Amino acid sequence: MTLSRRLFLSMSLAGTALPARAAAEPEVIVVGAGVAGLAAARALMAANKSVLVIEARDRIGGRAVTDSTTFGFPFDLGAQWIEAGRTNPAMAMLRDMNERPVPDRLEQAIYIGGAEAPKEEYARFEKIAIDASRKLIEALKKASDVPVGRVLVAQDPLERLAYAMVGPLESGVELGELSARDFMRQPESEPQYSVAGGLGALVARWGAKVPVKLGTRVARIDSTGPQVVVATTNGQVSAKAVIVTVPTGLLAGGSFSFAPQLSVAKREAIAQLPMALYNKVALSFGRKVIDASAARSVIGLNRKHEAFDAIVRPYDRDAAIVFVGGAQARQVEEEGTGAALGFAMSALAEIFGNDLRTLLARSSVTRWGKDPFARGSWSMATPGNADKRLVLAQPHHDRVFFAGEATDPVWATRVGGAYASGLRAAREALAWLGAKR
Ligand SMILES: Cc1cc2nc3c(=O)[nH]c(=O)nc-3n(C[C@H](O)[C@H](O)[C@H](O)COP(=O)(O)OP(=O)(O)OC[C@H]3O[C@@H](n4cnc5c(N)ncnc54)[C@H](O)[C@@H]3O)c2cc1C
Repeated sequence: MTLSRRLFLSMSLAGTALPARAAAEPEVIVVGAGVAGLAAARALMAANKSVLVIEARDRIGGRAVTDSTTFGFPFDLGAQWIEAGRTNPAMAMLRDMNERPVPDRLEQAIYIGGAEAPKEEYARFEKIAIDASRKLIEALKKASDVPVGRVLVAQDPLERLAYAMVGPLESGVELGELSARDFMRQPESEPQYSVAGGLGALVARWGAKVPVKLGTRVARIDSTGPQVVVATTNGQVSAKAVIVTVPTGLLAGGSFSFAPQLSVAKREAIAQLPMALYNKVALSFGRKVIDASAARSVIGLNRKHEAFDAIVRPYDRDAAIVFVGGAQARQVEEEGTGAALGFAMSALAEIFGNDLRTLLARSSVTRWGKDPFARGSWSMATPGNADKRLVLAQPHHDRVFFAGEATDPVWATRVGGAYASGLRAAREALAWLGAKR
């Protein structure tokens, strides 16, 4: 669709004050230009509504962002895969952009204390993973929810690794903090897809035509008057309806307020959907130091019995990406990027030899917990609170709508949840605008 001149003007306003009310008052303001905000804005634009997205960062995409320059291959600092690709709503972004999904089926190697696990341990590892799902399903038949750590109690190193792949290295939290109901609601990850140039880069292209006011932080949303007034670091702007897509970490902090105040139920939902932490350490080496012919997944326990998960030779390059989650991620984030780098290098050096220490060419470490506009990697319900996602999704004061991965009852934590929630909130806003007429 063509953008109205009014919206076109608002697109070119980055870094300047927001337009005066009479000059450009969109019907809907969307707070946040991540996948949820962009999906909502695109749906509203398709319905011929004027929309303005307000984004605190100087780029769109939020937790989906690709570094295409540092390594010579695309490094997704945030979301990389579209899981459960047959049903994942986010596949629509690829279809919109005529982008071919790349099936992601890496061979996986298991290492314990620097040595590859014997072949029979691979079969046992698979059985532990299947049994873990069965145990969680059984536990949920007996109780409405339970911390995963109460059901999955590791008896040996291989179980510890398998359970770490459920907790810190999959969900970004320790097993004791993980709600079995919230974890089991998630669709199976197969088939898993990536995109050739990086998922963040695709999102940036997909959202490029959406009118976004960049570099503008929203501080307050006031719906006490006839219009909803949005106060930002660049002045204020108003609209008939507002869609809020910021992560729960931001809603829980003191920097974002509402008038009237959010209901007690909503504030409780925000408190019970805290941010999990999952980071990535990307490394490239001066020459081939990793003895693998192609990209593969390497998981294991290092000599300190810490679980790790890595992809070595991504894009068949002399490189590796190491994932760090849960308590370990919090600890190394506190200690600084050197600690994350040290953890990643030690895990790889135990397996592939100390040469890689001297051959490190480039590195990049994400710190999503310290990111002022994310405050973590994705939302995880505390045990007993999986249903709080539906409470968070409820509108506030009729015309303030909520989207973002945390609000989706099925696809929460993932880009699929962000996408589906953006469409849902756009439908709610359209119904409100229709009812007002
Ligand atoms: C390391 C990592 C790996 C991941 N891997 C995957 C994966 O492989 N597959 C997958 O499906 N998901 C993955 N995810 C999760 C996925 O990235 C998120 O679920 C999804 O991107 C969230 O989109 P969103 O629109 O809900 O939120 P966001 O992308 O966070 O968008 C919200 C936007 O609001 C902005 N904002 C915040 N505060 C304000 C304010 N006060 N004023 C204005 N704007 C504000 C933010 O800057 C941001 O742009 C990963 C996340 C991380 C961090």
